[in-house]
Amino acid sequence: MPKITIAIDGYSSCGKSTLAKALAAKLGYSYVDSGAMYRAITLYCLEHGIIKDGVYQREEVVKILDQVHLSFVYNPHTKASDTYLNGQNVEKEIRQMAVSKNVSHISVIREVREMMAKIQRAMGKNRGVVMDGRDIGTNIFPDAELKIFMTADTDIRTQRRVDELTSKGNPVSTEEVKKNLLSRDYEDSHREENPLRKADDAIILDNSELNKEEQLNFVLKLVEDLKLVEGLKALK
Ligand code: C5P
Repeated sequence: MPKITIAIDGYSSCGKSTLAKALAAKLGYSYVDSGAMYRAITLYCLEHGIIKDGVYQREEVVKILDQVHLSFVYNPHTKASDTYLNGQNVEKEIRQMAVSKNVSHISVIREVREMMAKIQRAMGKNRGVVMDGRDIGTNIFPDAELKIFMTADTDIRTQRRVDELTSKGNPVSTEEVKKNLLSRDYEDSHREENPLRKADDAIILDNSELNKEEQLNFVLKLVEDLKLVEGLKALK
């Protein structure tokens, strides 16, 4: 079967990137974490005093966009790409709570989204890509052959994120993480530009009760089914 595009959207901390990474490795596809790009711009704004105490001027953010250069370098240890901001690896910094708290304010800005969309579409133009985010199946690749919409119980998501941050040496409180997930989900689903929503042709994956292997097998089965459909089409 020719390579396809796989779009994985869904709520915060549902394990989208874990699944997307495993899927890409299994299929020999590239994995793109679109959220990392919004996080990198947010980090730049924080580091340059453009966001102060959660407040920013939209025009100031738009003005600095041409100073921001994003690149992605494959890291053989994590088997995924690290995000570079103006030549510096910021993979760790973009996961910090300060970035999580502000990223949904920055991702509402149309010019920011247009810049990200250009990069994301270029990265997926040859197919053979698994991209995760909030608007991949609805806006970036509306023609993706396979679209998954992920969701999970809020407390389970919270605990997963707490464990992840703690294991990376960023201890956080459960309360703080839960509050952040809920507010990001609300903002991401209610913004004007490309809000988070399930594409009509996306398949829902609620992974509250599923382990990583079960989730991967669920999606691999969908890929196999697609192959079958393609094979039948070819026979006609
Ligand atoms: O996926 P992650 O949690 O790292 O995404 C961080 C934030 O980036 C989201 O909460 C959302 O505001 C924004 N985002 C977006 N569109 C995407 C991916 C992420 O608006 N495709």
